[in-house]
Amino acid sequence: MVSGFSGAGKGTLIDLLMKKYDSYALSVSATTRNPRPGEKDGVQYFFKTRQEFEEMIRQDAFIEYAGYVDHYYGTPRAYVEEQLRKGKDVILEIEVQGALEVKKKFPDTLLLFLTPPSAGELERRLTGRGTENREVIESRLARAAEESEFMGEYDYIVINDDLEECADNVHRLIQLQHQTSASQSEFIQKIQKELRERKEKRG
Ligand code: 5GP
Repeated sequence: MVSGFSGAGKGTLIDLLMKKYDSYALSVSATTRNPRPGEKDGVQYFFKTRQEFEEMIRQDAFIEYAGYVDHYYGTPRAYVEEQLRKGKDVILEIEVQGALEVKKKFPDTLLLFLTPPSAGELERRLTGRGTENREVIESRLARAAEESEFMGEYDYIVINDDLEECADNVHRLIQLQHQTSASQSEFIQKIQKELRERKEKRG
């Protein structure tokens, strides 16, 4: 899971990661917010009405969902499960509440928090994007202050200064995650069994 302040560059980072490596699948979320210019239904998000979204909640179609600045955002379950079955690393780009909810359900999920080097740089990036009015920018900065309170709960903090370097770092961290003892429990059981069998044969 990749979280980070709105304007931290999560979208750009993930695009680059997907371009450089073919082991990833990106989960497309559903949201009730309006598409930004250039955004297409089914590509950046599945754009839903509030009513449609609430129906999906009732059908338990989300792994998680959360309210963020007046809108719902949620991760549809079916695609994530299908890609995991295919052996892909599935990337969820979600905000803090949702990420912590997923971590509770699936503790071996890797939690990455992406941030610009400073608050001033964050405001510059949000303003420079030019897709939001001042009021929305202010509410996103206020939300960033709240989200920063949860940074300590993430596995890694990734500073997005140089984009290429940042993508390679993130790839390395994800690869390392495959070697944690929790991710290797099947291997551990296998080698324990082999060693036990040898011991029994000898003794
Ligand atoms: P934006 O409106 O800028 O595309 O996204 C706003 C926030 O919603 C971002 O922090 C993004 O990570 C988060 N978000 C996007 N999809 C989901 C989702 O499926 N679940 C949750 N919990 N947050 C999401």
